[in-house]
Amino acid sequence: MLGLMQDQPLLISSLIEFAERHNGDAEIVSRRVEGDIHRSTWREIASRSRRVANALDNEQLLFSDRIATLAWNGHRHLELYYGVSGSGRVLHTINPRLHPDQIAWIANHAEDQVLCFDLSFLPLVQAVHAKCTTIRKWIALCDADKLPADSGIPNLVSYEAWIAPYGDTYAWPSFDENSASSMCYTSGTTGNPKAALYSHRSTLLHAYAAALPDVMNLSARDSVLPVVPMFHVNAWGIPYSAALTGAKLVFPGPALDGKSVFELIESERVTFAAGVPTVWQMMLGHMQANELKFSTLKRTVIGGSACPPAMINAFQQQHGVEVLHAWGMTEMSPLGTLCTLKNKHLTQSQEQQTAIRMKQGRAIFGVDMKIVDANGTDLPWDGKSSGDLLVKGPWVVKEYFKGEGGDPLVPDEQGRGWFPTGDVATVDADGYLQITDRSKDVIKSGGEWISSIDIENIAVAHPAVAMAACIGVAHPKWDERPIVAVVKKPGCELSRDELLAFYAGKTAKWQIPDDVVFLDAIPIGATGKILKTRLREQLRDYKLPGV
Ligand code: AMP
Repeated sequence: MLGLMQDQPLLISSLIEFAERHNGDAEIVSRRVEGDIHRSTWREIASRSRRVANALDNEQLLFSDRIATLAWNGHRHLELYYGVSGSGRVLHTINPRLHPDQIAWIANHAEDQVLCFDLSFLPLVQAVHAKCTTIRKWIALCDADKLPADSGIPNLVSYEAWIAPYGDTYAWPSFDENSASSMCYTSGTTGNPKAALYSHRSTLLHAYAAALPDVMNLSARDSVLPVVPMFHVNAWGIPYSAALTGAKLVFPGPALDGKSVFELIESERVTFAAGVPTVWQMMLGHMQANELKFSTLKRTVIGGSACPPAMINAFQQQHGVEVLHAWGMTEMSPLGTLCTLKNKHLTQSQEQQTAIRMKQGRAIFGVDMKIVDANGTDLPWDGKSSGDLLVKGPWVVKEYFKGEGGDPLVPDEQGRGWFPTGDVATVDADGYLQITDRSKDVIKSGGEWISSIDIENIAVAHPAVAMAACIGVAHPKWDERPIVAVVKKPGCELSRDELLAFYAGKTAKWQIPDDVVFLDAIPIGATGKILKTRLREQLRDYKLPGV
């Protein structure tokens, strides 16, 4: 017997309709490429996204056609999020930090029909446009009078001129909720990138889950700053969860330096912010140097790579801001776990609470996870057994776009498919996940594993260290030994021996790195994460002392 409830598909257009009707006055504030602060509302975003939909219809674009963006976080990007997906097309957010050849490859692989870009990416578009064979319309996200006269891009039109002829009357179409809504290519440190293709259903379920109290806890009382880019896994779903809750949105545009982000938090009375550790490192550095304090910020989600305990402590203890450490990946839309305390932790000491907050957190409803050994056998949740992490759930990929890479899922005894994350983790008895490493970054020394994340966390807790990356180096007796590459804070002195002495008592003796390599910079990839492959290449002639 089937239930007798209305069969209404979960569609992204329902989010913007809801935001307009119930929270139409809530603000959308954007720092733009032009440098100004632009003010809009959910009502206006809804109206302009319908004009985008009309403009797309007029271009004879078909259902599921891909519309690409190369854009910062801003109101026009948000209008495209809703106008493109709401009208049944697929929003392809391209990461502008990728190499131009990779961007052209991705645009061709996705068969993008239209590319909308911020003017700061004009040089990039000029470099790639001739190689992008499927794109037939180029749109600059700017006012008509800002369009460069001789861009060299055929028939380039400004976004404002493009939508100007159209009214905001548009009936969002209804279709299968499993239809594709947006796509994002993985960073692809090896081989060609592969695309996660999200659906309306997966996006809506993720938006519901992300807004829950024990997840991001979003509400119409929040002012939300996604520093995490809209070109990387849909800014962790915040543009959708904010519409669902009616939160105010604040977009930083291209200004991601510590000073600009801090000023925006203060001027827009931001209560909730989300970003990767490198961005917060810059902001905390700026605040420390200028003795600044937050007046409104209450919570921040930090994820994308491991959040060092020193950062958790700085936010919590110096600024009274709750850190919600989160783990996820492009293939998971991206949220998998988020770290909030349980009732029983509230009476524990600050130190004990920090030890929990350092973990990547508990599974969000909808995400099922397990850790397995090399034979695929389930490992216990005891906080000690470390194994490969697998996940499944309605917002986890089942395969990549165009079947690239074959079937990625690993079946269990009941034939259910699990996605192998490539991460190595422990889970404790309370269900808190702790990522020890990417499987390819784990250091194997004398048959034992050393977590590069642990080694890095200790290094960045040293007051003279700005950034640290730990890699394994071949060793004749132990297979591999860890070394740590370090960038010093400006004006700080630190010797190899001082840093190695700092490890004493903080980790087992045999896990202490064999050496320290001081660098001016550590290579960072397109999503703000340390590029260990590049670092290993850079240090390929390095020899361990005494070997
Ligand atoms: P991406 O798909 O580019 O977002 O990368 C996902 C990967 O980033 C994960 O598989 C993890 O290896 C890593 N990652 C994400 N969040 C965290 C975190 N909180 N701690 C450690 N690693 C993380």
